[in-house]
Amino acid sequence: MRIDVITIFPEMVDLPLNMSIIGKARAKGILDLFVHNLRDFSGNKHYSVDDTPYGGGPGMVMKAEPFFNAVKSLDIDRNNCRVILMSPQGTTFNQAKAKQLAGLKRIAILCGHYEGIDERVKELVVDEEISIGDYVLTGGELGAMVIIDAVTRLLPNVLGHDESTIEESFSDGLLEYPHYTKPREFQGLKVPEVLLSGNHANIDKWRRKESIIRTLHKRPDLLNDASLSKTEQELIEKILKDEE
Ligand code: SAH
Repeated sequence: MRIDVITIFPEMVDLPLNMSIIGKARAKGILDLFVHNLRDFSGNKHYSVDDTPYGGGPGMVMKAEPFFNAVKSLDIDRNNCRVILMSPQGTTFNQAKAKQLAGLKRIAILCGHYEGIDERVKELVVDEEISIGDYVLTGGELGAMVIIDAVTRLLPNVLGHDESTIEESFSDGLLEYPHYTKPREFQGLKVPEVLLSGNHANIDKWRRKESIIRTLHKRPDLLNDASLSKTEQELIEKILKDEE
């Protein structure tokens, strides 16, 4: 997959994404990440990319021309690439969106700063606006990195085990079950007996039940869209009744 990022702080995106699992995905050529400096596309000799807002008010607004030039320079085929603008006004990023983007050959991400971006950039070159949550950041770089991380780990051969992404939180509408590793007992707390039993049918059953219970307690909103069997729905009703 190819991802292009357009930002006034290229190192902020490039350097951290050279580390760990994403760094390895880049080294293996699974992710082709290109981070472009918006100032290279300013179209003026001062490399200026922002100006005061029409109508007055505080702060600076990022100009339309640098983003327009930068996207044009990428020679994007609109049939297999989406141009994403990081924005607190966009649709909130989630695992379903990560999966959808991981299915594309190419995406480009535009990072704003200051008060935001000239509205015409959206009309001219942006396919969709994405927010990473209901709060306001100083710039789009952290959001772009969140998207790149979540999307890249879904690409084939990035994680050690592909089943890691099948069972994990949100993948089937539930939060993942609890994990334990050695030692068997730590500070008086024991690993649940069933996980030591070697009985995989029982382990699967226990994990599924723990997933449901955790989702019920931590994120009950997710249960509305989860696919649950009749027995599982009865389990939830029973837990809710016992807790009354
Ligand atoms: N004045 C704007 C916020 C600008 S914040 C408003 O009220 O809507 C500056 C830049 O940071 C934005 O252009 C965007 O690229 C990025 N940004 C801020 N919060 C974000 C969020 N929650 N998700 C994604 N990008 C965000």
